[in-house]
Amino acid sequence: MKQQSSRASAVADIASRPTPTRTINYHEESPEDLFGVNTFSLAVMEQTLGAGTYSSLLETIQDGKKLDGKVADEVADAMRAWAMSKGATHFTHVFYPLTGFTAEKHDSFYDPGGDGATAISKFKGKTLIQGEPDASSFPNGGIRATHTARGYTAWDPTSPAYLIENPNGTTLCIPTSFVSWTGEALDKKTPVLKSMQALDKQARRILNLFGHKEIAHVSASAGPEQEYFLIDKAFYYSRPDLLAAGRTLFGAPSPKGQEFDDHYFGVIPDRVMAFMYEVDRELFKLGIPSKTRHNEVAPGQFEIAPVYESANVASDHQQLVMTTLKKVADKHGLVCLLHEKPFAGLNGSGKHVNWSLGNSTQKNLLDPGDTPHENAQFLVFAGAVIRAVDKFAPLLRAVVASAGNDHRLGANEAPPAIISIFLGEQLADVFEQIKAGGATTSKQRGTLNIGVDTLPELPKDAGDRNRTSPFAFTGNRFEFRAVGSNQSIAGPLTAMNTIVTESLDYIAGKLEGASDLNGAIQEVLEEILRDHGRVIFNGDGYSEEWHAEAAERGLPNLKTTPDALPALTSPEVVEIFEKYGILTEAELHSRQEVYSEQYCGYVNVEANLVAEIGRTVIFPLAIEYAKELAEASAVLGGAGRVTMEKVKEQAIALEGALEKLDEFQAAAGDDPKAWGTTVVPAMLEARAAGDALEALIPDERWPLPTYQEMLFIK
Ligand code: ADP
Ligand code: MG
Repeated sequence: MKQQSSRASAVADIASRPTPTRTINYHEESPEDLFGVNTFSLAVMEQTLGAGTYSSLLETIQDGKKLDGKVADEVADAMRAWAMSKGATHFTHVFYPLTGFTAEKHDSFYDPGGDGATAISKFKGKTLIQGEPDASSFPNGGIRATHTARGYTAWDPTSPAYLIENPNGTTLCIPTSFVSWTGEALDKKTPVLKSMQALDKQARRILNLFGHKEIAHVSASAGPEQEYFLIDKAFYYSRPDLLAAGRTLFGAPSPKGQEFDDHYFGVIPDRVMAFMYEVDRELFKLGIPSKTRHNEVAPGQFEIAPVYESANVASDHQQLVMTTLKKVADKHGLVCLLHEKPFAGLNGSGKHVNWSLGNSTQKNLLDPGDTPHENAQFLVFAGAVIRAVDKFAPLLRAVVASAGNDHRLGANEAPPAIISIFLGEQLADVFEQIKAGGATTSKQRGTLNIGVDTLPELPKDAGDRNRTSPFAFTGNRFEFRAVGSNQSIAGPLTAMNTIVTESLDYIAGKLEGASDLNGAIQEVLEEILRDHGRVIFNGDGYSEEWHAEAAERGLPNLKTTPDALPALTSPEVVEIFEKYGILTEAELHSRQEVYSEQYCGYVNVEANLVAEIGRTVIFPLAIEYAKELAEASAVLGGAGRVTMEKVKEQAIALEGALEKLDEFQAAAGDDPKAWGTTVVPAMLEARAAGDALEALIPDERWPLPTYQEMLFIK
């Protein structure tokens, strides 16, 4: 009897799988009742804390006031009681090390009672506020030697604590910052918090100038749109590259790809829908306002977007979204791929980060208003962003740099590596007029003076959309589209907050003390457009012409991670990060080092996998098949010769590329540039030969699930 390959049996298994059965019943359990049930929310705090404690904590959470240490014991007690009433037995300080992933160290609520026969539950304010995980194994970029590897986690009361349920128990999770024993940030959260504080201070200066004195704390907001792929678990486990690198390193294109654009917004398959319902349900329980879901462009690709929240909370929640997607996929026999480019030749996955700033009294500061006065204020904030993005474009490129995202940026489906701003026709026109305004005193058409002319009505809705811009104004926010699907959004948010802080500071400095505010605004906006207007580009970011034009405009085009990372420690970046107390020079250096190491590390793993799959899977098949063809052609009067020659040629090419790969890998050391310019191309060379062989070798012998199977079988 013919033995069925594991690949074929995977397909058979999937095909005969029963359709999903109901696990959620919204007639019995409404999303309304579900929302936030597993978070220690403001509502729960109000119920369980004394009035004084609650209002003190509220001031910390909403107005950014320093936490009053005295309230910690009471909060800890209430938190423990609430968590235990919902079945929690353990707690953990959750933190976000530079790996980009979430880390947790769990402790039990229970201590031995001392009599050898009882355990008592305890959770003191001290334990809530500070933890001390042994942190020696987290990346620190040379900041700490292992013998001083103490790290501290510090409670972040602005991000709600929550419960994570597991079939066997429930854990209370407390979001924390993670710092070294000497006080340096070792995580992604700390700089986000600091940058939000700095942004608040400078934004208020501007608002004060516009006469707003009694104003609430200004906060950055973020709404991340997460793209991801789903494939069947059976396929995932039979592909070593997916398992270890999260993307396919070999794989011939599927006969059908995304050419018909029939997947985008298409009908969502039932099995995927069942998964999505459950994802939404889990996120709702965690108080994460998951809102939008749809098919994306590539087959097997989807998107989820929650409603925006305060940047820090959005960032923590984004980590939970990624974890939840993976967990729930597993329950449905699927695997959620968050890699930026799991499949060559198909669209990759990004994470558009929508960003704005605002508060409860002035609302969204990037929302054009109804009056010229409001519009002048809007133009100042928008101008600040334009100046910031141009001045610090290399930084924005650096914070989205990763080995995975390199395959996406500039690959004609994602924004190019050139950072530019899309404003939309109307807004761009307004800024053009402002720029021309100072040049002439006459009020001819086409010039515009703040406060003198009535500002025209500004676009309320981003009517025109531009998918090719890395940084787009979308009506009342900017959308940073270059962020990769697998990345933490904390780095991009920190960068945006910090560079806009610097711009607002600069502008406030120019406006404060001016006798004629409108004239001063006019002047500063003109100056910004003159010096930084080059960053505005409304055309097609994918086009060849743009690359040439961008070069002419002097815009940087940092194509790869090794090119981009040095910007993290450029003098301009160090200066502003130190000035606003976001990160010190040492901390920036440590980050750059960690990310460089990560880049080399990821490429190294991928190269190992290419070598392994190339040598132990594909090459032997090619040799075996070539031999058979040679023997066959001897008896068949030459039939099979042509194919044999092709197989032989590709086998030689594969072997050669793998030899080169070995050599380059051994020589690359810790130089990211070497990995990027020698190892990466050698991997591609090996892949090209491998993929050619996939198209030649009998299908039933090919052990790796094909693109066609992975992408279309759901
Ligand atoms: P699209 O795909 O059209 O860009 P989506 O609806 O998928 O839009 O996602 C838009 C995201 O932008 C959502 O997360 C939304 O909450 C967020 N958003 C809307 N307004 C703001 C704002 N003021 N600040 C930050 N994010 C915002
Ligand atoms: Mg969207």
